[in-house]
Amino acid sequence: MSGITLGILGGGQLGSMLSVAAKKLNIKTIIYCDDQNAPSQNFSDEFIFAKYNDKDKIYEFANKVDIITYEFENIPFETLNELNKLKTVLPKPSINRLIQHRLAEKDFINKLNIRTTRYVAVENKEQLLPLGDFLPGILKTTTMGYDGKGQYLINNVEEINSLNIDFSKDYILEKLVKLKKEISVIITRFGNNKYGIYEPIENIHEEQILKSSKIPAEISKKLFDQSKEWSIQIAEELKYIGTLCIEFFIDRNDNLYVNEIAPRVHNSGHLTINAYNVSQFENHIRSVCSLEQVLLKKISNAEMINILGNQIIPYRKNPKLNDNQFLFDYLKKDIKEKRKMGHLTILK
Ligand code: ADP
Ligand code: MG
Repeated sequence: MSGITLGILGGGQLGSMLSVAAKKLNIKTIIYCDDQNAPSQNFSDEFIFAKYNDKDKIYEFANKVDIITYEFENIPFETLNELNKLKTVLPKPSINRLIQHRLAEKDFINKLNIRTTRYVAVENKEQLLPLGDFLPGILKTTTMGYDGKGQYLINNVEEINSLNIDFSKDYILEKLVKLKKEISVIITRFGNNKYGIYEPIENIHEEQILKSSKIPAEISKKLFDQSKEWSIQIAEELKYIGTLCIEFFIDRNDNLYVNEIAPRVHNSGHLTINAYNVSQFENHIRSVCSLEQVLLKKISNAEMINILGNQIIPYRKNPKLNDNQFLFDYLKKDIKEKRKMGHLTILK
């Protein structure tokens, strides 16, 4: 055994795949999650079910582990900060606080002279009404959004009155980009100018949820290089430790924009499990646990398809696969519409 115990906040499929990667490195995992049915308890060594603001449980968790990381960004900053006083939390809580706030995140990216879509803060309807210049646009909650949750598409000013917007929350209005493609870049940073970067991944979304990802992305050399360059710049500027994902838009004139940063392993990187010698999950663990950095090598082109809701049923009944196909069932008990239940990776 390595003797290391890694604590992971969050118990979804990303926590499961981190636990599997940790096991391969002889690292023990303890998952902490506020969902009693968290699927990653099927894959981790230990599971603590408690609220993220439960001081006693947080303390118990910290006492049991050597290092702490997280598998989703919407963990209260206070929790990460408290934990960081007891054990090292990576990525740093301050990075998570910056990125989990869409406005702070976009301000940060623009300060680096990296392009994002045009955006403006919106706190109430009176502020929204004169913003026709940003329409068509998407109104997004500044915090806690994922898979398109907390978002309103607004085509014109007239539509604002017919939308039932919950203004107890703060928003950001983003001008809609006329999308040609979406890509993402996954990078694991180990220290100053020490990083492993995966090639850009092309992503297809349906109803704001990732449907499929593939490498190679069908993009120009210029966009290939620029997306990697910007990703390295962001990771270095944040002094990031661990794996992060940068989501990009490409518009119809081949302009590149950063959409958002995920301070964690990412759904579009699931194909790295089978397509690379070291996956995004293993790399994250190597980085946060200060293990040796291994040079990344691509093994194969690949496509990953998300299995949503009851699409998982036929796979569970008859999991017959070809040699180049790899199925991951997240073992979620409740099948819900559009819920990510598993994924299939096909090597090409
Ligand atoms: P989430 O945090 O839910 O992933 P995103 O901001 O990444 O939110 O939005 C989800 C998806 O919605 C994007 O991947 C993209 O397909 C679409 N989308 C979001 N913002 C814009 C925009 N400004 N222009 C065009 N499409 C957008
Ligand atoms: Mg996104």
